Amino acid sequence: MTEQNFLDFKSKLGSTTLVAVSKTKPNEAIEQLYAYGQRIFGENRVNEMIEKAQSLPKDIEWHFIGHLQSKKVKLLAPYVDMIHSIDSEKLLLEVNKQALKNEKVINVLLQFHIAKESTKYGLSIEECHETLSKHELSDLKGVNIVGVMGMATFTDDKIQVRSEFTHLKAIFDELRTSYFQGHDQFQEISMGMSGDYELAIDCGSTMVRIGSLLFGARN
Ligand SMILES: *Cc1c(COP(=O)(O)O)cnc(C)c1O
Repeated sequence: MTEQNFLDFKSKLGSTTLVAVSKTKPNEAIEQLYAYGQRIFGENRVNEMIEKAQSLPKDIEWHFIGHLQSKKVKLLAPYVDMIHSIDSEKLLLEVNKQALKNEKVINVLLQFHIAKESTKYGLSIEECHETLSKHELSDLKGVNIVGVMGMATFTDDKIQVRSEFTHLKAIFDELRTSYFQGHDQFQEISMGMSGDYELAIDCGSTMVRIGSLLFGARN
């Protein structure tokens, strides 16, 4: 992608944050977008993200966007800035614990299952209420819960995708009202990928996760 194409794409996004999903792509591909000014990159494998974080510029903000096993949080914690995929109470508490050990605060998003496909991970709204009503936010000093994340069904049916994004926006609004009054950091809705980001922005996305459109198709 040329610099001009990248800047044109960025300007289409307006104020929506771009997470450049670099999974499976080599360091050179990341360095190219870095040279264009991109600083936020998303990865979905722990070892791959760590290797990239160790070898690439230190001012890159690394976002972890894939399913994360609790036992791997320890490895990830020193390098990660935001985890989009908190899908259980156990994982939230482990991220909190490992962040405190590293004397840092990790930004996290609560991932919801909004798609029809059962293969996609995420909390149900019931599990989320159970978790958030059980813990005081002030007791979780290692995590900063900054919003929600979801993946729509992989389909051409725009009505279906729109209804799933609208559902995630409604969950966000409900949680903000119930648990985050006065916590202004709870403001992110991570939704939208290469195939559906325009629809996602239309439905209130504040953060899109774009891979193939920036880096080309993955194998
Ligand atoms: C791979 C991936 C993306 C990016 O997908 P593209 O269709 O290549 O833009 C976004 N979000 C998650 C969670 C992913 O795993």
